[in-house]
Amino acid sequence: MMVTGYARNDRLGNALELFDEMPVKDIVSWNSMIKGCLDCGDLEMARTLFDKMPERNVVSWTTMVNGYLQFGRVEMAERLFQEMPAKDVAAWNSMIHGYCGSGRVEDAMKLFEEMPHRNVITWTSMIGGFDQNGKSNEALFLFGKMVGSGVESTSTTLVCVLTACANIFHLHLGVQIHGQIVKLAYHFDEFISASLVTFYSNCKQIDNACKVFHEIMHKNVVVWTALVTGYGSNCKHEDALKVFGDMIKIGVLPNQSSLTSALNSCCGLEALERGKEFHSVAIKFGLETDAFVGNSLIVMYTKCGNISDGIAVFKRISEKNIVSWNSVIVGCAQHGFGLWTLTLFSRMIRAKVDPDEITFTGLLSACSHSGMLQKGRSFFKNFSQDKSIEVKLEHYACMVGVLGRCGKLEEAEELINNMPIKANSMVWLALLSASRMHSNVDVAERAAKHIFYLEPHCSAAYVLLSNLYASANRWGDVSRIRGKMKHSGVVKQAGSSWVTLKGLRHEFLSGDRSHPLSEQIFKKLDWLGGKLKDFGYVPDQQFALHDVEVEQKEEMLSYHSERLAIGFGLISTVEGSTITVMKNLRVCGDCHSAIKLIAKIVEREIIVRDSSRFHHFRNGHCSCGDYCTKSEDQIKLLKARSMVLNKEQQEITWFEKEDNMETRLIELLAKTGGLQQAISEQLVHEDERMEEETEGFKEEQDNIFLWEKEIARERKEKLEALTPRMKGFNTDQHDGLDQLVTEFFMLVTDLLGNLPNKEDIMVWKEGGMGEYIG
Ligand SMILES: [Zn+2]
Ligand SMILES: [Zn+2]
Repeated sequence: MMVTGYARNDRLGNALELFDEMPVKDIVSWNSMIKGCLDCGDLEMARTLFDKMPERNVVSWTTMVNGYLQFGRVEMAERLFQEMPAKDVAAWNSMIHGYCGSGRVEDAMKLFEEMPHRNVITWTSMIGGFDQNGKSNEALFLFGKMVGSGVESTSTTLVCVLTACANIFHLHLGVQIHGQIVKLAYHFDEFISASLVTFYSNCKQIDNACKVFHEIMHKNVVVWTALVTGYGSNCKHEDALKVFGDMIKIGVLPNQSSLTSALNSCCGLEALERGKEFHSVAIKFGLETDAFVGNSLIVMYTKCGNISDGIAVFKRISEKNIVSWNSVIVGCAQHGFGLWTLTLFSRMIRAKVDPDEITFTGLLSACSHSGMLQKGRSFFKNFSQDKSIEVKLEHYACMVGVLGRCGKLEEAEELINNMPIKANSMVWLALLSASRMHSNVDVAERAAKHIFYLEPHCSAAYVLLSNLYASANRWGDVSRIRGKMKHSGVVKQAGSSWVTLKGLRHEFLSGDRSHPLSEQIFKKLDWLGGKLKDFGYVPDQQFALHDVEVEQKEEMLSYHSERLAIGFGLISTVEGSTITVMKNLRVCGDCHSAIKLIAKIVEREIIVRDSSRFHHFRNGHCSCGDYCTKSEDQIKLLKARSMVLNKEQQEITWFEKEDNMETRLIELLAKTGGLQQAISEQLVHEDERMEEETEGFKEEQDNIFLWEKEIARERKEKLEALTPRMKGFNTDQHDGLDQLVTEFFMLVTDLLGNLPNKEDIMVWKEGGMGEYIG
């Protein structure tokens, strides 16, 4: 038929013309024309024709109902379905399928129970629908009823049931289904075989998954992918990558899913080099701009320590979805690039992508890692008021982190006590580690009490508390905690650091001499130790935490696992290349200070990923801005210093070690006239920020931007009010100065949270982020 032919070839205009000219139109031609409109994406025209039809049969109605469902217009489909004079099974099935697809599984079940006759498609749609909506138990229960009522399964039914078994790890039933599959000779079906592989790997029976895989005669990409994914989900990442390699070798083209799984395994192995190889595979097969593959590439790059390549990939994704935005936002947050995170968030809102719970987590962790107190508070307030976002325990933990990092321990504790859901040990642990950072024994003890009640074997809590006592020289309490730990059988996790080189992982424990290159590593570290002393570095014994003599403490500090890993990196890689070290626990404060200087001495970038974030050490600085290791006052001073006194850096490198920090800073500020300059620079910057943030949003009613604007204006006013007072600033006139400087610090601390430092901008430009900051 010509009409159908035209419609199939996307020539809807011609089809409609031809249809108009037809002298006699029967129901079949009307129906084909409606179907043709739907296939060409013209829902409106389909409805117009449907309304114009002189008479309709059940096919006309079902086609139109399906049309609405196809375009996600479930309510319209529902209305039409109710108006249908006579419904056949196909119509009922369509509606059930449509309900399940839009998450309305209860409504689907109601129809299922109401309908007069059911066929195997009805049962299968409902089983699959339950499973896709997280109700795998109900799916399996329904399957039982189906078998009981004598309906024979099709291969699609069995795939649905196997998937449900895989989701809830129902090994017993799955194995029975496997038996039935063999009996019915369905095991030649590639989709069934792939479901079997997935089922066995989900149930941690990877050997059986392998056996099924090898029995399949014709393996398509779906089957191969199932095994790659299966190995990955069983943490056998090397095997996963080998299977992926074999697949490419025999000429099966990878698709999005197989590449995504392979990239996830690179992530699992922290194997940046392998990940880069797969990146070129993705480019070769034209999959780099695909959102699924792109998102996995972002995660791979950021988790392996390479944030700029992650951002570069992000920019190339042609249709960015919520996962793309979240991956890049979370990545930037983990690397401590707070401003990038916020800028990307602004871009996300502008691209009209609605933030979700993961975005929220990313933003809060950015605020926490970069010490942005006001931003963190505003995000938390605004997201909590957003009805579409569920505030979860992890959000509370992040918010406690934000407050805790900035020394607002009281506020953090109050937040926990007023939570509408019960706090878990993760939330209390965030408070405990903040108390450790700010040496607040009272809060720490309260937090620890809750943790020990909720999770008696939480070794992190014991360690934090005992370290806190040690730093306060309360050795009695230290041994009490250690005794308690021993008594309850809690084992402290040993600190270990590793470097991955040419696919091999070189792991080190503290003071470890087991590596074959050990002698050279220690030699290198001793050489560095001498250089460090020349730079005026004094080991901070607070972090040695053992009740031993000073000299011995220093020795222990200089052979911490992260330093051994760095030593290994230095002797095994080319001069000038970046060294990436992974550590299972947090990097200790003393190593943190030392690594900053080591990066300067060896003129390399050193990236250390510890249990909480990434640290980028470059030229004497770390991207974390020392939040992890400094007290609140020190943070304030450091921030003010880095902004005001760029030229004076040498002089004050170890400035924070002095007792009378504030007096010294006032002197330095006066000497350079930096205070006023800083304020005027800040004003210019605030203006730019406001421009940037409000541009293009004049008509937008977007709440997020309204409050961002609000904050920006508030800050500007504060700064302007402070400026005239600063003009009268004079070094000889110390009266009232302390008050002024304190106010200034408070303000600067708040403001600087939003400013990149020089290093950030450098990486930014290198990473091609220019267009993102404008
Ligand atoms: Zn250390
Ligand atoms: Zn750091």
